[in-house]
Amino acid sequence: MNYKGRQRRLQDTLSAHLLDALLVTHLPNIFYLCGFSGSAGVLVLTEAESVFFTDGRYTAQARAEVQGSQIAIARKGPSVAAAEWLGAHTRRGRRASPVRVGIEGEYLTVAARTRLSRMLPSNLRLREAPPLVERARMVKDAEELQRIREAVQLEARLFERALKVIRPGVRETEVAAEMEYAARRAGAEAMSFPTIIASGKRSSLPHGRASLAAIPRRGFVVCDFGVILAAYCSDMTRTVHVGRVSAAVRSAYQAVQEAQQAALEAVRAGVAVSEVDEAARKLLKNNGLAKYFTHSTGHGVGLEIHEAPRVAAGQSEILRPGMVITIEPGVYVPGKWGVRIEDMVAVTEQGCEVLTLTSKELITI
Ligand code: ZN
Ligand code: ZN
Repeated sequence: MNYKGRQRRLQDTLSAHLLDALLVTHLPNIFYLCGFSGSAGVLVLTEAESVFFTDGRYTAQARAEVQGSQIAIARKGPSVAAAEWLGAHTRRGRRASPVRVGIEGEYLTVAARTRLSRMLPSNLRLREAPPLVERARMVKDAEELQRIREAVQLEARLFERALKVIRPGVRETEVAAEMEYAARRAGAEAMSFPTIIASGKRSSLPHGRASLAAIPRRGFVVCDFGVILAAYCSDMTRTVHVGRVSAAVRSAYQAVQEAQQAALEAVRAGVAVSEVDEAARKLLKNNGLAKYFTHSTGHGVGLEIHEAPRVAAGQSEILRPGMVITIEPGVYVPGKWGVRIEDMVAVTEQGCEVLTLTSKELITI
């Protein structure tokens, strides 16, 4: 990964955002910018300098991982050291105006912000920075795309495992356990979120985490899961059916499948994310199911399972080649049943590369 290049691009935009320095505290952003994968650290960027602060537990790890930044091992904690460094290194010459230090408002707690402003010299001012690193992370480079493809390939194998385990009477947690064991055996660092296995009436819960409920004799089973492999996340959903499928239920499944296909076909560089959402919603509307589609169509995926952009109504982000998003419309009839189908795609100039290659035809068990 070209950490130095990522930092340079960010450093070059600081002054345009009226910042003299950026204090990066969100760990996935730190990892993206300098490669540190530990759990305590602060990265400080100014136009000319880049310093990564961590504590003594991470001395060896920081030296092994961090690229493109000086490493400072802080005795009193990374934030204190970063504040002291900023005080000493960011003078604006003879100008009286204060030094503007950008913080990540989405991630810094109110208490941490208060502590930080108490530590900073009086000529430094904290201000909330726009989500600069999140914006950079939206577009994946070739190496990131390759890692994501591999994470998607692994989750596809987990679904095959799930199909062998899903049977009436088997607990949802048993299905999740088999998948999660297989994921770790195959080298996954973790699941990218708590595995969702929602069967029967529970399938109408869009986020029905695997529970102690036994899979009923008849009904849908929503399986939504993903892995973290080499730091990158994957995310997919397939809905299978146990027992005989009624005509009404089959046509609802088909409607979701068609909505998902319509959204996939809407993905292309230059299109607003809201148009992709609208494509799915319109199709469900035609089938009288729009009111049961209660969440957005998708989200970005990368170092985090949910990252920018949001693929939702009212969002104006324009798709660009290299963005990786999910397309996951669903229909949930409260207390009865639910269906969701989710793929991950990489945006291309002409359309998209569907990364999830698992069949979407309705599987009955
Ligand atoms: Zn999902
Ligand atoms: Zn998702």
